[in-house]
Amino acid sequence: MREFDYQGSPARIRFGAGARAGVAEAVEALGCKRALVLSTPQQANDAGAIVNLLADRAAGLFTQATMHTPVEITEQALKAMRDNDADCTVAFGGGSTTGLGKAIAYRLDTPQIVIPTTYAGSEVTPILGQTQAGRKETVRAASILPELVIYDPELTLSLPVPMTMTSGLNAMAHAAEALYARDRNPISSLMATEGLRALAEALPRIAMAPRDLSARSDALYGAWLCGTVLGTVGMSLHHKLCHVLGGAFDLPHAETHAIVLPHAIDFNAAAAADELRPLSAIFGETSPGAAIHGFAVKIGAPTALREIGFREEDIGRAAEIATANPYWNPREVTRADIHALLAAAWRGDAP
Ligand code: NAD
Repeated sequence: MREFDYQGSPARIRFGAGARAGVAEAVEALGCKRALVLSTPQQANDAGAIVNLLADRAAGLFTQATMHTPVEITEQALKAMRDNDADCTVAFGGGSTTGLGKAIAYRLDTPQIVIPTTYAGSEVTPILGQTQAGRKETVRAASILPELVIYDPELTLSLPVPMTMTSGLNAMAHAAEALYARDRNPISSLMATEGLRALAEALPRIAMAPRDLSARSDALYGAWLCGTVLGTVGMSLHHKLCHVLGGAFDLPHAETHAIVLPHAIDFNAAAAADELRPLSAIFGETSPGAAIHGFAVKIGAPTALREIGFREEDIGRAAEIATANPYWNPREVTRADIHALLAAAWRGDAP
């Protein structure tokens, strides 16, 4: 018998090639007058084009967004909000820039527009991960969820192919874990399955033709669905492991997700066999962990933690941190299990 509790997200979504052209109108629709545009230093030029689109609704450009949302950078951005008399933000970029927009909204409760340029999915979650003095904390609040997301696939054409593949697998990880989430509901499972299907189909097309706008549009559509389920239901082992590897060992976010995913799914496969069936249907293989590994190899994604700077001698400490606090997972987790899983991911074994 079914039993569930479902709450839809209040965030508004505008999706389409060229949708960024409506950004000034969107600021006005939020009742705002002056938007501070946010980006990383690497995307400063493209963010400048958003400032131009905003015209007299632009308050300025802040280009210091950084991975893991350091509080010192947030404080500089808060000063820029005050100095430029800004009443809202437009975050242009990936999860790092979205994180900065969320950190500002968490403190000032100012409206946020996000224009995502990767597949991380942060723009549709009420979750903020921020770091201070080397410690990463996660907070959840209604003010953190952006009011409007403008998905414009033209802005993802410049995302380098290796980053496209790992970022796409990062999105797929949200959906894979949503399938067996304890608090899953029929809508989250439908969105997760469709998000996985869209990315499984789009990423190989992008690997062949990186400027194929139709494939880019399909991938961004899949990323929206995968991000939405991340914001809707609880995550388990996979996200816990990636949080530890990113937070305590400073490993790159999307690559870490791409490498750990086949191993985490393989670990949970027997305990969540029915729930993971959509994965087998999408990839045409019976073992979901092996299917994701095969897919990652096919699209040229990294498969071993040793390739991205994780040291073999740190496996024990990572396993210790990852099992220090209990969390829900479809299968019970022991330190020895996690040690074995991380050792396999370090070597890059096929599950
Ligand atoms: P990122 O935002 O750090 O971007 C990586 C690099 O790619 C940056 O230099 C960026 O400027 C560049 N880039 C982004 N889009 C580009 C494009 N279209 N063309 C060219 N270059 C581009 O990477 P990410 O993986 O999107 O985000 C990772 C961060 O997001 C992590 O800090 C992670 O914790 C956070 N995150 C948070 C949530 C959440 O719900 N809170 C969810 C997912 C990720």
